[in-house]
Amino acid sequence: MSTSRHVPQRCCIACRKIAPKQELIRIVASPEGVMVDETGKKKGRGAYICPVLECWETALKKDKLNHSLHRGVTAEEKAGICEYLEKMERSI
Ligand SMILES: [Zn+2]
Repeated sequence: MSTSRHVPQRCCIACRKIAPKQELIRIVASPEGVMVDETGKKKGRGAYICPVLECWETALKKDKLNHSLHRGVTAEEKAGICEYLEKMERSI
């Protein structure tokens, strides 16, 4: 696997685990609001979370997301993220 030398590593904001970028889910504070960035290419400040329910709960409930994104996350935005979580949970 000579092509995997430069795998970008990111840290989960909830459990602080370091993992390759593509193994984590990106949340982005884009001009349209805070949302799950499924493409990983949206512009804006990003935060990474493991695809593990526990980490999402920690990130949302302990306001870690607000800290990482340097802005408040509205109830509406949280609802959007929870919707994504439900989809994810079904696919696991
Ligand atoms: Zn985590």
